[in-house]
Amino acid sequence: MIFHSTNGKTRGVTLPEAIANGLAEDGGLFMPDKFPGLPQAFFRNISEMSLQEIAYVVCNTIFGERLSSAVIKRIVDDSLDFPVPLVPLGDGGVYVLELFHGPTLSFKDIGARFMARLLPELLPEQRGRTVLLATSGDSGGALADGFRGVPDTRVVVLFPRGELSREQIAMFSGVPNVKAVEVGGTFDDCQTLVKQALADRELNAAIPLTSGNSINLARQFPSIIYYFHAYARAQQERPDSRVVMSVPCGNLGNLSAALMAKKMGLPIQRFIGANNANDTFVEYLQTGGIRPRRALMTLARAMDVGNPSNLARIIDLYGGDLEQLRNDVEGVTFSDREIVMTIREVYAAHKYLLGPQSATAVRALPQRMDEHETGIAVATGHPAKYPAAVLEAIGKTAPWPPEMSALHWSSIHTMKIPPTMAALSRVLHTV
Ligand SMILES: *Cc1c(COP(=O)(O)O)cnc(C)c1O
Repeated sequence: MIFHSTNGKTRGVTLPEAIANGLAEDGGLFMPDKFPGLPQAFFRNISEMSLQEIAYVVCNTIFGERLSSAVIKRIVDDSLDFPVPLVPLGDGGVYVLELFHGPTLSFKDIGARFMARLLPELLPEQRGRTVLLATSGDSGGALADGFRGVPDTRVVVLFPRGELSREQIAMFSGVPNVKAVEVGGTFDDCQTLVKQALADRELNAAIPLTSGNSINLARQFPSIIYYFHAYARAQQERPDSRVVMSVPCGNLGNLSAALMAKKMGLPIQRFIGANNANDTFVEYLQTGGIRPRRALMTLARAMDVGNPSNLARIIDLYGGDLEQLRNDVEGVTFSDREIVMTIREVYAAHKYLLGPQSATAVRALPQRMDEHETGIAVATGHPAKYPAAVLEAIGKTAPWPPEMSALHWSSIHTMKIPPTMAALSRVLHTV
């Protein structure tokens, strides 16, 4: 595969180069010139294949030019060593795809674990790497866990002041090769700092940086896997029904992976991009205009993004054809009140507890499906991670799952900086 930048200037880039840099020189995101397709035979047998078998075929298609089958198999088996169940909500054809059974309980474990294992294989000569990350809560823990103990690699996590729970911060601060940096600003400020740092040539000559966010294809590509897996499980449950996929949206990493899966041949009819009150993407679908704005704080914190990075990828994927994108994707937005009501109603009806992000995806489904369709709501985070929303909805919080006892609850050590490049540069040079 050959890659270009969504800004159009940088072209002819290889996969290792795209992953080493994270962001193109012209400031855009890397995209493949052409997506490889999967053979028809694969879709005929898919419902009999396991998650790992599907992952192996999908990853061979993406990484096979660069990595041996044995290496791909090892990366897949090591990074996907937990279940990804498709759970029915009642008998109306609505299912929840639970992506939160990894070590830090969000879908970001999948990309982070994969990236931590992929980097040393794709870039064996690169030593002393710094992975720079802006987190809205969940990716900090996922990356820290994924990269824990990876030699010659440090992770610097920028997080917005006052927006993360103590538990979320504890999941990354205190991991030896991870530095937690509290930024006096919003998530978008953190994300802007990461992009500025990646684009700073002088800084990168001194300290080779790569992105730990979904702007890096090393984290983005692995998400493609579970859309094929979800389709396979749906075919097993309801053969020959059409599938509608509802995806909670923040930075649009997860939704763009879903659309990449479709590009690779996954027969999914329609997608729903479910948003909280931060509706930059919904407005883009309506008007074709992009108006980045200050993110509003909602109960679905992990989706509080006012300037979603991966919108550029979605536009690139459709060659700027808004009509065609609208055919495939409907954008919806829900208030905190609707999120709370959904958690409450689904708990009352099915004894099933949703996190606030997953609730937006479920909310979008039933009234937008016909009886021959199967609806899959992508559940991105475990409800125990978002106590405020769950408490408001049902009057108590969700218990941590037993597998969390394996998590090392570290003490909280953070540095504090203002949202400026000068301050970030000092941190990168000194820690
Ligand atoms: C990060 C995150 C999201 C948003 O995903 P994007 O890929 O940024 O759109 C949604 N839900 C949870 C639980 C998350 O951690």
